Amino acid sequence: MNAATDTPGLLRLRGIRRSFGEKLVLDGVDLDVDAHQVVALVGASGSGKSTLLRTVNLLETIDDGEILLAGEDVSDPRVDADAVRARIGVVFQHYNLFPHLSVLDNVTLAARLVHRMPRADAERRGLELLDSVGLAGFAAAFPDRLSGGQQQRVAIVRAIATGPELLLLDEVTSALDPELVGEVLALVRSLAEGGTTILMATHEMAFAREVADRVVFLDAGRIIEDAPAHEFFTAPREARTREFLTRFL
Ligand code: ADP
Ligand code: MG
Repeated sequence: MNAATDTPGLLRLRGIRRSFGEKLVLDGVDLDVDAHQVVALVGASGSGKSTLLRTVNLLETIDDGEILLAGEDVSDPRVDADAVRARIGVVFQHYNLFPHLSVLDNVTLAARLVHRMPRADAERRGLELLDSVGLAGFAAAFPDRLSGGQQQRVAIVRAIATGPELLLLDEVTSALDPELVGEVLALVRSLAEGGTTILMATHEMAFAREVADRVVFLDAGRIIEDAPAHEFFTAPREARTREFLTRFL
C-alpha cells in the first residue's frame, strides 16, 4: 500500500515478514493502531506476538514490509532507530527495572538522558506519576524492595514518563503471582481510559474484552482475525479463533 494515500493513523504495519533461519515467524502482517486506540494482540505461545512488538520498536530487523509511525516510514534503514524508540514506551513480561537505581531514578532516566529534561523537572514529573499510581512512597527505594506488581507498575510509569506516542505492552502480567495481576491491569485500564494509545500482547482475555477496542488474533505469524473486541469474543468469524478461545473457557 502506498503510504502517501494511506489513511492517517498512528501505527501502520504493512506486509511485515520476518524469518529466523528457515522459520517464518511473521508472515505478512498488516496491522493498524489509531491514536487513542487500545489493540490487544492475542495468540498461542510462539505465534509471533513478541516478535511483532519488538519489530514495532525496531528491535527486530524485518525481511519485508513497512512500519509507519505517524505517517513516517520508520522501517527505512536510514531512520535513526534511537529517535524512533524515544517515541515509543515499552514494557516487557519480566519487570526490567534497573536494580541499582532508585524507583525515581528508574522513572526519570530516559527523560533526563534521552529527552534531556533538567533533573528537577524530570523528578517533579516522575513524582507526580508515581503519586498517581500510589507509589510515591517508594520513590527513594530500590526495586527489590517492591512486590512484583509494584515493580511492574513502576516499569509502566517509566515507559510513559516521557509521554510516548505509543505504548507497547508484552504480557506485562504473565510473570506475576495471580494476586498481583489486578493492580497492574488497573493501571493499564486507567491509561487506556486516559487516551494512551496501546498495543498489548496479552493472555488476559477478560481484560482484553473489557479494555481493548480491537482484538487481533495471531496464529503462526499471520493475522487470522482482527475485530472489535465485543465481536471477537461473541461472534468470531474464523474457526481457528473459535478453537483458540475455547482454551480460555
Ligand atoms: P510469542 O510472543 O507469541 O510467544 P515469539 O514472537 O516470542 O512468540 O516467537 C515466535 C517464534 O519465533 C517462536 O517459534 C520463537 O521460537 C521464534 N523466535 C523468536 N525469537 C527468535 C530468535 N531470536 N531466534 C530464533 N527464533 C526466534
Ligand atoms: Mg511473547
